[in-house]
Amino acid sequence: MDQDHSRQLRQQTALAQFGELALHSDDLDEILTEACRLVGEALGTDFAKVVELQPDGNTLLVRAGVGWTEGVVGVATIQATDDTSEGYALKTGEPMISPDIDEETRFRYPDFLITYGVKAVANVIIIGGTDRPPFGILQVDSRVRREFSEEDVAFLRTYANLIAATVERLSVLNETRDASTRLRLALEAGDLGSFEMDVASGHITSSDRYDSIFGIVSVEKSWTWNALLEQVVPEDRAGIADAMRSALAESGELRVEFRIERAEDSAPRWIELRGRLDDQGDSPPRIVGIAADITDRKLAEQALVMSNGTLEAQVSERTNSLAESNAQLDAFAYTVSHDLRAPLRAMEGFARILQEDHGAGLGEEGYHYASRIVGAAKRMEGLIDDLLAFSRVQRADVTMKWTDPARAIRNAITELRSAGFDESAVTLKVTPSFPPIKADGMILAQVIGNLVLNAAKFKAPDRSAHVTIRAERCAERVRIWVEDNGIGIAPEHQARIFNVFERLHGQETYPGTGVGLAIVKAGVERMGGTCGVEGDLGVGSRFWIELDAAENSAGEGVS
Ligand code: ADP
Repeated sequence: MDQDHSRQLRQQTALAQFGELALHSDDLDEILTEACRLVGEALGTDFAKVVELQPDGNTLLVRAGVGWTEGVVGVATIQATDDTSEGYALKTGEPMISPDIDEETRFRYPDFLITYGVKAVANVIIIGGTDRPPFGILQVDSRVRREFSEEDVAFLRTYANLIAATVERLSVLNETRDASTRLRLALEAGDLGSFEMDVASGHITSSDRYDSIFGIVSVEKSWTWNALLEQVVPEDRAGIADAMRSALAESGELRVEFRIERAEDSAPRWIELRGRLDDQGDSPPRIVGIAADITDRKLAEQALVMSNGTLEAQVSERTNSLAESNAQLDAFAYTVSHDLRAPLRAMEGFARILQEDHGAGLGEEGYHYASRIVGAAKRMEGLIDDLLAFSRVQRADVTMKWTDPARAIRNAITELRSAGFDESAVTLKVTPSFPPIKADGMILAQVIGNLVLNAAKFKAPDRSAHVTIRAERCAERVRIWVEDNGIGIAPEHQARIFNVFERLHGQETYPGTGVGLAIVKAGVERMGGTCGVEGDLGVGSRFWIELDAAENSAGEGVS
C-alpha cells in the first residue's frame, strides 16, 4: 500500500512539475526531454522517449528521450507499420503494452531497442491538434520484464495528453508569431498605421505610424474618436460619422476617405480608414483597422482629371482647326476645278476655232502651235482632274463595309475599255471569284481602276499585253494582285513611284500625270491596308494591295 502511495505521489509530482514547464517554456525540445525524464523517473523505467511522426505519415523519429546514449535521439527511426507496436498504437489510438518483448508474437522491435537490452515496452499516442495527424508516441522502455498496471497506463495517457496540449499551444504560438510578422511587414510595406477602437468609450489604441499620419505628437497616447473627428475638415465630418454608424449598425465594415488638418501642413491631408467590427468573443466590441495617408494618390487623381479636361479642350480645338483647314482645302479644290478649268477650256476652244475657222491663214507652223495649245490644255485638264481625285481620296468619308472586290474589278474593266483598251489591245485574266473584304466601295474602285489602267498602259513594245487579276488569303487579310507582262520597274524605283508626280517615263512614250499610284497608296491606307509592287525592269510588274478580310479564317462573316 505504501509502495502504491509513494508511486502515486511520484507520478502526481511529475505531472505537476511538467505542467509548470509546459506552460512557461517555448522550447519544444526542452519540454519533451523534461517530459521523458519525469516519466522515466515516475515509472522507474530505464528509458523514456517521444517519437515524432514525420510528414511522410510513416516514419517515426526519436525526437527526445532519456537513458539513451548518442546516436538515438534525433537519429533513430521506426517505421509505423502494422507489425510494430508503435504503428499499431498510432493506428488504433490505444496504448500498446509488451511486458516481455521476447515473448511478444505480434510485433517486431527495432534493432536499437534490442542493443540497449530493452525487455518491456509501453506506448501511448500523443494526439495532434484539431484536424492534424497524431504528433507521435510517448514510449517507456524497461530493461527488466514488467507488467504496466492500469494506473501506470492512465498516468502515461495523462502525460501524453499534456504533451499534446503543449505541442498544440506551441504550434499556435508559432503561427501567431508568423502571422504577426507578416502583418507587420505588410503594414510597413504599405506605409499603413494600425488602430483599435473600443466602441463603447471611443478610446483608440494606435501604432506609431498611425500617430504620425494624424500628426499626433502626444506621448500619453490618450486618443479618442471624438478627438479624431475634431481634426477632420468640417465638410467631411458628416461622411465619416455616417460611415462609422453604418459599420456599427449594419455592415461591420468601415471604409472611408476624408481630409484632416494637421498643425504642420498648410493644405489638408487625405486619409483613408478601413476597419472591421469585432463584437464576438469575451472582449468588449471594438473596431480594428488601418489608416493610410492617400494625399499623393488624391492629388494625382485630381491632376489627371484636370489634364483630361485640358486634353479634351485641346482635342476639340484641334478638331475645329482641322475642320476649318479642310473647309479651306475644299474651297481651294472648288476654285481649282472651276476657276482654272474655265480659262483652260477657253484656251482650248479658241485654239480649235483658230484651227478650224482660220486654218488657212495660220500657215503650217501656226496650225502646229495651235495643236500644241490644244494638247497642253487637255493635259492640264487631266492633271486637274487627277489632283482633285487625289485630294478627294485623302479627305472623303470612309465607309468600311463587306465588299466583293469583283465589282470594283468589273468597273475597272469597263473604264479600261472606254479608255480604248479593247480585247485586241490587252488580254485579261481574272480569277472567277474573290474573298470578300472590308473596304469602301468607291475608293476600292478608284484604286483598282488605276492599277488596271497602268497594267495595260505600260505595255512592252515587243509583246502583246497580258494582265492577270487574282487574290490570295493571308491570315485575316486578303491580297489582290494586278500583274502585267509590260515594261516593268527597276527595284530601286519601286518605292518612289507611289509619290505624287513621280514618273519614270516621258509624256511621248507613256502619257500620264504621275498621280495614279499616289491615289492608290492614299486610298489603301485610308482603308487600313497596305500596297506594294514586285517584278523587274523588262519582265513586268506585280502590283498588290492588302486589306482586311470580311470573313475570319473560320468562315464567319464580319460586318
Ligand atoms: P502615271 O501612270 O500617270 O504616270 P502613276 O502614278 O500611275 O502615274 O504611275 C507612276 C509611274 O510608275 C509611272 O509613270 C510609271 O513610270 C510607273 N508605273 C506605274 N505602273 C506601272 C506598270 N504597271 N508597269 C511599269 N511601270 C509602271
